[in-house]
Amino acid sequence: MDRLDKDTETAIPETQNQVAEQDSDQVKAANSQKMEEKRAENEEKDKTEAGLKVVIDTATLECLLCTIPKGIMKVNLDTPTIQEKKTATIKERGPKSLVFTGTCKKSPQMAAPCASVMNVRDWQDVGTYLSQDQFVLLQKSTIPCTYGGVNITITDSGQVHQPETIDAAGAPVPESKEKINGNFYNYNGTYEGSVKGQKKGNETDVYACEGKGAEEDIYKSPKKLNIVHSEFQKVCNIIKHEGLSTEKEEYLYIAHTNYNEAKRVGKTMFQLLNSSYSSVEAKDKVEMKTTEKDTISLHSRAGAIDALLRDVDDVKTDPTDNATQWDGEDFLAWGIDTDLKPDSKTKYGHNKFDEYDSVKISKSLYDSFVAKVTGRRGSTLAYTSVHDEGCDKGVHTHKTVKEKNKAVYALPNADFAKTDYWTTGDFYFKNATKQSFGLEATRVAGYTIFWKKIKV
Ligand SMILES: [Zn+2]
Ligand SMILES: [Zn+2]
Repeated sequence: MDRLDKDTETAIPETQNQVAEQDSDQVKAANSQKMEEKRAENEEKDKTEAGLKVVIDTATLECLLCTIPKGIMKVNLDTPTIQEKKTATIKERGPKSLVFTGTCKKSPQMAAPCASVMNVRDWQDVGTYLSQDQFVLLQKSTIPCTYGGVNITITDSGQVHQPETIDAAGAPVPESKEKINGNFYNYNGTYEGSVKGQKKGNETDVYACEGKGAEEDIYKSPKKLNIVHSEFQKVCNIIKHEGLSTEKEEYLYIAHTNYNEAKRVGKTMFQLLNSSYSSVEAKDKVEMKTTEKDTISLHSRAGAIDALLRDVDDVKTDPTDNATQWDGEDFLAWGIDTDLKPDSKTKYGHNKFDEYDSVKISKSLYDSFVAKVTGRRGSTLAYTSVHDEGCDKGVHTHKTVKEKNKAVYALPNADFAKTDYWTTGDFYFKNATKQSFGLEATRVAGYTIFWKKIKV
């Protein structure tokens, strides 16, 4: 064979044997390639067939952002069984159906249980056949978790041996061709478009969607929100002005915190934000234009949509742990009871310390809040002030900037360093005057700290 390799062009007579040997090599090679192709084809077919298997209770799930990536499908809806197990449908969403026992790698310090942060949208690539009036899930179906920003997948349908595939089930559910009036926003906050002049829906309706469909005026998986467009736009704009950073969570938490307090007092998100609850100036309590597409506008819309979805989606959770109030850097600057507030000659410290029975902040949330605020502002913060050196109380100083009297406060205020407040390891302040609610910090995002009220 050496010879052939070296000089294949030269017509050297070959023996029958050599030819036969060469032929048989070629045949073998061709055969093995055919077998390889067949094997790949079968594998592809197996994969496709596996992908079409109807999913049942105890199917295996996978989330690559979970510290224990393997999860289990628990079917909660009462559906007909396959192999004596309930059929899974698109109704199985959220932590009660998608059971993961690990913590999410995307959460702070990877510490939050998957089940507490999971934030899913709708199942994709589902079967066309119905079980209890709901589309069935196929092994190839996926569901996006927006907390982690990944798809949760199904690695095993739960069926053993003889898989039951239903021919029609594998075809994707076709996109709806029905045009509905309304204003369509992507979950990420992008304005997608508005539909007018159709028979169905109001032109003031607001929908969350997965993006534009193939046809004009069609949007993917629209979900109607309980709000009219002009109020939605105002809610988004007020949230935008309440936030101070470029951090997405700050806007998300402001939206949900407002949602929580609105529910508590029986108002809509718009009514509450349009009241003194929000200190945003009246000139900014106006509609956010649909043309706005800067990052902060997108974060604000995405936050408002996420909160409003809680009205219409029962697996939607509150990412703030029941927060109903928030504060910014003033809280750290004005302190507890030593310094006069910049706008008063008689009031000491931040109002929260008068209004609540106690104030509790875990060490880690306090450290994170201080780090973020000082990272932005440095070690002091100056406010236009009604007091001056003449009438002063406390440890703040004064300076004149452009002929204006400014009070300069340390960040954090020295009050926070007093050891009496840290005897538990966390910050704990107890009001000498009894009040009906205590306050506990639940989240820090951007330059904002979020609070929940605890009934005393
Ligand atoms: Zn996860
Ligand atoms: Zn002063």
